[in-house]
Amino acid sequence: MKYPKVREIKEALISLFTPAYTTGFPAKPHMPFENYRGKPVVDDNNCVGCETCANVCPPGAITFTDDKKKKIRTIVRNYGLCIFCGQCEEHCITGKGVKLSDKIYDLATFETGNLIEKQEKELLICEYCNAVITTKQHIQYLHKKLGPVAYASILNLNMLNEKLKLARDEDVSVPVYDDLKRKDMFNIICPNCLHQVLVKFID
Ligand code: SF4
Ligand code: SF4
Repeated sequence: MKYPKVREIKEALISLFTPAYTTGFPAKPHMPFENYRGKPVVDDNNCVGCETCANVCPPGAITFTDDKKKKIRTIVRNYGLCIFCGQCEEHCITGKGVKLSDKIYDLATFETGNLIEKQEKELLICEYCNAVITTKQHIQYLHKKLGPVAYASILNLNMLNEKLKLARDEDVSVPVYDDLKRKDMFNIICPNCLHQVLVKFID
């Protein structure tokens, strides 16, 4: 039989009477240090569903799916893929849509489905070419942010009136609303068919 060396016995004894270096989680809650980057937490009221965070997320933990029929954008955040880099918080256009919390140990789970969160936002669809423009909440946020400058865009005007209609000058059958205040600034904004429908509406 091989006996343990004296050095190993000494180390075992020291270890026995030394407090643990590791955290006591889950028996005790984890106490994060200052500026700890943990699970991103979404504030749905301040998240407008703009897709910016998905574009900057290095591991692709955030995905967007648009259902044109239902006019719904689904945002999926998979915290099983998240590397807690903070890019989503840093680049969030509202500055309040997502913030990293100090919680990370709480993500420990045997069910990967528990790490997935979903949001839904109403889509704004171009009635002319059926392209997805963005979410209604996004346009409303931009309109609020732009203030009076928003009146330079027919899209924002229409959002104000909750009517999105796009028209060509040669196609008079497409209705143009008379209650718009700045008909002289008739810039069609649909990102998909912009080249086809750009018109200067002359009253
Ligand atoms: S960037 Fe901000 S507002 Fe845009 S989808 Fe992400 S969390 Fe929401
Ligand atoms: S913290 Fe980084 S990896 Fe995690 S969701 Fe945000 S951008 Fe993606």
